[in-house]
Amino acid sequence: MGVFETLSSKQQALVQEHLRLVIEANQRVNLTRIDSVDEGMVLHVEDSLSGLEELNAAPEGMFGDLGSGGGFPGIPLSIASGREVVLIDARKKKMDAVSEIVSELGLSPQISTYAGRAELFARTQSKRFVALTVRALSQLPVLLELASPLLMKDGLLICYKANVDDEELAAARRVQNMVGMSLVGDRSFLLNDEYQRRILTFKKTAEPKVKLPRQEGMAQKHPLSE
Ligand code: SAH
Repeated sequence: MGVFETLSSKQQALVQEHLRLVIEANQRVNLTRIDSVDEGMVLHVEDSLSGLEELNAAPEGMFGDLGSGGGFPGIPLSIASGREVVLIDARKKKMDAVSEIVSELGLSPQISTYAGRAELFARTQSKRFVALTVRALSQLPVLLELASPLLMKDGLLICYKANVDDEELAAARRVQNMVGMSLVGDRSFLLNDEYQRRILTFKKTAEPKVKLPRQEGMAQKHPLSE
């Protein structure tokens, strides 16, 4: 059984309406490549909700969704958990469209948006978040670097992945210590009995040994390595 079925009927209606509005807005601004509700219910809604147990393990408080695009996984997770979330995405056009969707859903201010790069946001929002979720943004070492300055001590970085090759994980293990993070969870499962998924969770355990955030764009252009 998927997490969706465990939600209240009000929560179910909200996550479905979010998906519907994203598919509708997609005709004007590119938020997703998925254009059918049936496919979206699995690949966006259930997939987003699959990290609820990881989010529930975070300290109480507000989380952030890095590279949120159409609001996945941040919006379904906020609806399911009742937690405040800030959706963060570098593309202003996407965040404008998503922020309209959020008001239509009646979910502001529980759900807010920030249009800008995560590394810029970290300059003013240092250690603000108890958790960060991220799906389909970049490789693990990049995610670790972007997340670390935004997370408070014991905060969690929850990375949604399909397949992770050994090289990516090895690189993450080398970088985690440099940015004050440690791998604390690794869960593989099949989404809808069909799609291989893996959620890797890192905890902010120490202050970074390098000065973060680095200049905008550096994390992605020149990833940290030992
Ligand atoms: N999480 C969504 C969207 C994934 S696409 C989903 O899974 O459907 C990746 C998104 O990350 C893009 O919208 C891109 O604009 C954003 N992004 C990439 N690098 C970023 C950065 N450094 N800071 C903020 N957003 C970033």
